[in-house]
Amino acid sequence: MALIVQKYGGTSMGSPERIRNVARRVARWKAQGHQLVVVVSAMSGETNRLIALAKDVSPRPDSRELDVIVSTGEQVTIALLAMALKDLGLEAKSYTGGQVKVLTDSTFTKARILDIDSDNVRRDLNAGTIVIVAGFQGVDQDGNITTLGRGGSDTSGVALAAALKADECQIYTDVDGVYTTDPRIVPEARKLDRITFEEMLEMASLGSKVLQIRSVEFAGKYKVKLRVLSSFEEEGQETMGTLITFEEDSKMEQPIISGIAFNRDEAKLTVLGVPDRPGVAYQILGAIADANIDVDMIIQNVGHDGTTDFSFTVPRGEFERAKKILEEKVSPHVGARAVEGDSKICKVSAVRVGMRSHPGVASKMFRVLAEEGINIKMISTSKIKISVVVDEKYLELAVRVLHKAFDLDQAAA
Ligand code: ADP
Ligand code: ASP
Ligand code: MG
Repeated sequence: MALIVQKYGGTSMGSPERIRNVARRVARWKAQGHQLVVVVSAMSGETNRLIALAKDVSPRPDSRELDVIVSTGEQVTIALLAMALKDLGLEAKSYTGGQVKVLTDSTFTKARILDIDSDNVRRDLNAGTIVIVAGFQGVDQDGNITTLGRGGSDTSGVALAAALKADECQIYTDVDGVYTTDPRIVPEARKLDRITFEEMLEMASLGSKVLQIRSVEFAGKYKVKLRVLSSFEEEGQETMGTLITFEEDSKMEQPIISGIAFNRDEAKLTVLGVPDRPGVAYQILGAIADANIDVDMIIQNVGHDGTTDFSFTVPRGEFERAKKILEEKVSPHVGARAVEGDSKICKVSAVRVGMRSHPGVASKMFRVLAEEGINIKMISTSKIKISVVVDEKYLELAVRVLHKAFDLDQAAA
């Protein structure tokens, strides 16, 4: 008997029929004698609908109240799944994040999990009950409802698996595993049977939304055995999905690049003509950090005539707020010439652990993009990835040509 945490995403929970399907799958695992905790997302589209509703009433909704609203999506699906399981004759019980309790900090809309009190869940499991937990949500120490950021149910699943010391955490979604890139953009993308934890971390942090980055971080920290699989495979036809492994692959000849990731959720800001002197980067980015806005890529150009241009990227949803801070607070203070913004950009990245030993990768990437006439606006590299910022209209083309240029459509030797 194993303790298994399963997480089902929005598409998997997208209709009454699909929820009944999930219930049947859970029932099959239960019939094998396992203890099951099932974490669910809201029905697909529901979180977007709730956010839009909030913004319809209040253009910049209060973040505490926004979390009260968006957390309702998962409160619906936990009950529906519990009902469907009871109809199959099984004992099942639903829990909201607060009922479990999943304790988080108080950063509404992107809270971090601090602790999980798993006593209730364990008691139910020991009594043979299937425990259904609302993903994406928690509660802070004052009892306020919080949410974990978009895609956060993955993190709820892995965090629960860590807290319960589960034997495996299975992330059921609408694709049958992790691919070399998003199979919706590149049909030739290949499914990976295994991916190392470091590669998965990098793919997720660079925008592959198949797993939320924090879920991968949790898996690494607590060594949770994590697998991504499809909830749409028929009984008897199920495959093993993709296992996230903690061992380095021992095969000698590895492809240089293991995947192409992309992120549309980026916007670029440039502060033009700032004085080229110590402290300016701090004045610019300090103001952005004080507003709790994450900064991703940063470029400061070489100074000339005593001034320089300073560019960085932020999540697109924070673009207007960041621009306003630069225009109203930063620019007059540092004596900048102007502030420019571009919210129609995206980031495309090539990922491979140990890429440092392959100096030709960057030049190949730049050549391939140049051949397609794609202008690179920003570049950043680390030992395991190269990222470029390009116009959003080139996203699909860039991903496709890079995927092909690095032979990712070919099976590894
Ligand atoms: P869920 O609702 O189950 O959480 P998501 O939409 O959040 O599902 O994540 C699954 C989606 O991630 C897939 O449908 C696919 O389009 C996308 N995706 C992006 N990059 C990858 C990748 N490298 N491998 C597999 N899927 C990917
Ligand atoms: N329902 C939330 C979202 O759409 C959380 C999730 O699905 O993981 O972002
Ligand atoms: Mg998701």
